[in-house]
Amino acid sequence: METFSLFLVSPLMQDPQRIPAHDPVEALNAEYAQRSPREILAHALSQPGDIAISFSGAEDVVLIDMAARLKKPFRVFSLDTGRLHPETYQFLEKVRQQYGITIEICFPKPEAVEAMVNAKGLFSFYQDDHKECCGIRKVQPLRAKLATLDGWITGQRRDQSPGTRDAIPVIQADPGFSGPGKSLIKYNPLANWTSAEVWSYIRMMEIPYNPLHERGFISIGCEPCTRPVLPNQHEREGRWWWEEATHKECGLHAGNLEKE
Ligand code: SF4
Repeated sequence: METFSLFLVSPLMQDPQRIPAHDPVEALNAEYAQRSPREILAHALSQPGDIAISFSGAEDVVLIDMAARLKKPFRVFSLDTGRLHPETYQFLEKVRQQYGITIEICFPKPEAVEAMVNAKGLFSFYQDDHKECCGIRKVQPLRAKLATLDGWITGQRRDQSPGTRDAIPVIQADPGFSGPGKSLIKYNPLANWTSAEVWSYIRMMEIPYNPLHERGFISIGCEPCTRPVLPNQHEREGRWWWEEATHKECGLHAGNLEKE
């Protein structure tokens, strides 16, 4: 009898503290950490549930092109803050037509925008910092959209922003936007790619790009908060240039700041 119980009760069962933690998302990230963007994207698009590509109107058109070539069904959404460049709107339309896709446009709540601009004017971010305006025009619409999804696919790369994106995984849980009883997964297929690799893909595949890139813009956001950069300036220096460099996130990827 004593011998029998030795087989039933392992040391780990006697001391649950000794059981190693196993996070399935972290394990998946480890498995895909060195895979190609295409493989990571293929994995994301083969998952059950509602998953969509977040398209900002800039270089992450690469994700749409890869998804189209994978010939799997995919969804795309984009945030229209109301402050984008005319060139970005034209680019969104060009991509919509070229790939024959629906781009699900997410708008901010009009009453929230009205209250902010009526109280503070149209350029309060130059005095207050960008958080309130980005919160209303970007984060709230994104939160509403993500509440309808199980996963989202972003064009984030590690080389995009000093101090905020240099450690992003290729697959991660996104607790900041998860709802009760639902764990949102974020896929970053381009995390390992550099800007040079993204642009090699764009040129090689001859896919459309935002014409602002031809005028020195690299990281493109809203018109009042984006400017071209000079040779050898980091791309993020063209965004919210009046603020501290290591805090240049708009809240869409808030988890990047929490890790600082
Ligand atoms: S990037 Fe600028 S204009 Fe756009 S939502 Fe943020 S603060 Fe507002």
